Amino acid sequence: MGLKGLIDMNIEKKKFLKSLGFGREVSIVADCKCPLCADRVNTEEFKNEIFIKEFERSGLCQGCQETVFGYRVAW
Ligand SMILES: [Zn+2]
Repeated sequence: MGLKGLIDMNIEKKKFLKSLGFGREVSIVADCKCPLCADRVNTEEFKNEIFIKEFERSGLCQGCQETVFGYRVAW
């Protein structure tokens, strides 16, 4: 996939999130900030790839994912 494909994919994702009412949060995620606590997200803080995948979807940091999902996704 070239750069164009990646950009298209990003636009689709943003459209999808905006359609869910996450317009403001999307701009925060683009800035590498968690939409819940507005902390800068460091990918090294994630415990495993499941959290990283979720971060790529929702932009939530490790702490907020644990709060939101109640550890369900972790194990
Ligand atoms: Zn957070």
